[in-house]
Amino acid sequence: MPTRNIGKYGIDMIIELEGPRFEPWRLLPDCTPEILKEHASWLIPRHYDPETDLFVAPIQSFLLKTPHHTILIDGCFGNHKDRPNPMANQLNTRWLERLAAAGATPEDIDIVLCSHLHPDHVGWNTKLENGQWVPTFPNAKYLFAEPEFTHWEAVNNAAEQPLVHLVDSVLPIVAAGQSQLVPMDHEVEDGLWLEPMIGHSPGHVGINVEDGGEHAIFIGDMTHHPLQLTYPDWCSGFCDDKPMAIKTRRDFCERAAETDLIVVPAHFPPPTFGTIMRDGDAYRFHYEGE
Ligand SMILES: [Zn+2]
Repeated sequence: MPTRNIGKYGIDMIIELEGPRFEPWRLLPDCTPEILKEHASWLIPRHYDPETDLFVAPIQSFLLKTPHHTILIDGCFGNHKDRPNPMANQLNTRWLERLAAAGATPEDIDIVLCSHLHPDHVGWNTKLENGQWVPTFPNAKYLFAEPEFTHWEAVNNAAEQPLVHLVDSVLPIVAAGQSQLVPMDHEVEDGLWLEPMIGHSPGHVGINVEDGGEHAIFIGDMTHHPLQLTYPDWCSGFCDDKPMAIKTRRDFCERAAETDLIVVPAHFPPPTFGTIMRDGDAYRFHYEGE
């Protein structure tokens, strides 16, 4: 994929995993075989693979180059991590080589942004070095939305079993002094700011970039799959506060359908960038260039 420019910003997708991976009932518990059949004409093959009965959805990061910073948005699962989820366990992907191919070394990254602190968004925060988890990006400030961090820190402190992904991918950043807790509407630089998109997790944020007459927003996991635009009240199986997640999605779709806002959902397959259009009482995703 070529670099997508939004004015002065350059954006590259760094894919970790792609292809059919998610059981429909797990990703979208309200989904039924009948509904998959009803929408087969646009779901297959991009979003659903009937051979395996799996949803197609990538795990990917975004490299965002600004005039002032080289920023990584969302760190996928990462390599060599022990995970209960077989999809994520002990990965050994070429993600770092793909980052290099997009024009950034780990040393170049000076800011890491996480839409939220689930395992598929924080993994590359750290790497294994001599048996220790250390920051992958030695020169980066890692910005965590304060409510998101404090929520997961409290959950981890109260849990009988520590949250492995917090222990190996978030807390080492704090220990290294590279974390910075920020408000959910934090402005990173002129034209680049966070906004609250809560529900999927308590401190989930969207990341806005605006320049040259274009405005894009990385919405993370606020919506996982385009069927959630057809059925805005469907939550993922991983959402924390479902009524709030629905309200956030409905409010956002309403706003996006009224504007030219370029929407960048974390788990939509390439080309990933698109706009939200009204479709009867609901919405649909229109991929760029199609
Ligand atoms: Zn995710």
